[in-house]
Amino acid sequence: MQTGDVLVIGGGVIGLVAAMELAEAGARVTVVDAGENAGSTANAGSLHVQMQSRFIRLFPDLAPNVEAALPLYRQAARLWADLEARLGPCDLVRKGGLMLAEGAAQMAFLEAKAKREAAKGLDVEMLDRAALDRIAPWVGPQIVGAELCRDEGKLNPLLANSKLIARCAALGVVRVTDRIAQLEAGREGVTATGERGVYRAAEAVVAAAWGSGDVVRGLGLSLPTRAEPLHMNITEASAYEVQHLVQHAERSITLKQFRTGQIVIGGGWPATDRGPRTVPAVRAESLLGNVALAARLVPAIGRLRVIRTWAGMNTTADGASIIGRLPDAPRVTMAVPGDAGYTLGPLVAGMAAALVLGRTPPADPAPFAPSRFATLSA
Ligand SMILES: Cc1cc2nc3c(=O)[nH]c(=O)nc-3n(C[C@H](O)[C@H](O)[C@H](O)COP(=O)(O)OP(=O)(O)OC[C@H]3O[C@@H](n4cnc5c(N)ncnc54)[C@H](O)[C@@H]3O)c2cc1C
Repeated sequence: MQTGDVLVIGGGVIGLVAAMELAEAGARVTVVDAGENAGSTANAGSLHVQMQSRFIRLFPDLAPNVEAALPLYRQAARLWADLEARLGPCDLVRKGGLMLAEGAAQMAFLEAKAKREAAKGLDVEMLDRAALDRIAPWVGPQIVGAELCRDEGKLNPLLANSKLIARCAALGVVRVTDRIAQLEAGREGVTATGERGVYRAAEAVVAAAWGSGDVVRGLGLSLPTRAEPLHMNITEASAYEVQHLVQHAERSITLKQFRTGQIVIGGGWPATDRGPRTVPAVRAESLLGNVALAARLVPAIGRLRVIRTWAGMNTTADGASIIGRLPDAPRVTMAVPGDAGYTLGPLVAGMAAALVLGRTPPADPAPFAPSRFATLSA
């Protein structure tokens, strides 16, 4: 099959935005997606900019990579507003994100973090309890203050995904469900062999998240993309009050309210991996622990029913995005986000699409080059 100018492998937020931008520039684009475990269909819709305490605690050795990329997160969150203006409403709200502290030690941790973030250009401020009460009177009585990062926000990813799919369809992007088992790249173009077909194009963009390392394994580079199964809860609707993205200085949690009134609670509680072809299994302790913590921080949540709970596949590598042409296969461009990949999605996709089109990327991709990883001998 002659697929066209660009083959995009992976049809999550990054594959779709890349396909959209390439098609808008006039390229014939095919997106091949395995249709399994996309983080983009499972995520919480938080637009993260400040460093997440969860990430600093779980991956302390990788935290410097996230810190170095903070300006990228700020730019990415702003880009979502541009994208929403192009696609139509995605329930995007950019009131900022609160990271709550339950004692003096946590306030001190946040103060030090805020200083590091301000040095990277983030719009952050420490709030004592009185200041917090003026914007978030719904937090629990034990909360002593918070860090407010005005760059943060939230959106409804299901709305954004469906608008991206519609936009791609309108631009003539072809979407195929298949799993790519092998990708070859030569001087003339790329050939991807799937379980159902063979796809040829002049160039490929690999946006297969946790599957990316396997897709390019035959092209000389070992990319440490790993699946990280995570848990989510959503409550029934209540009055719309929690307009900020809410996190905690020490505990893993994110919560926010959609305009529909439902509260989405996540933040990296574990689920059980059952392989790439099966949805991860929900763990009872994650369901209960996550909701109990949410109700401690925002007591009104304790009166709501959880109406749905699910698990999805996040992706980790070394904390930073992987963006750029493969050193030994320059017709293949990687587009894998670092931590908080839905936030980074449009920016990472825009950078990859610009590289393919020979345009100036919206941010410098050099620090994210795939060449930082080990090469494999032939
Ligand atoms: C529960 C959960 C909550 C999250 N919450 C947030 C949040 O609030 N904010 C935030 O910024 N980020 C969040 N994330 C992370 C975010 O969802 C992901 O980083 C982001 O969606 C990744 O987008 P992507 O396009 O790179 O990949 P994905 O959306 O993961 O899509 C990759 C696609 O590639 C396909 N694929 C894999 N291998 C192959 C192959 N060999 N051939 C063909 N196709 C293949 C997969 O089937 C999948 O459809 C969360 C993740 C999870 C799991």
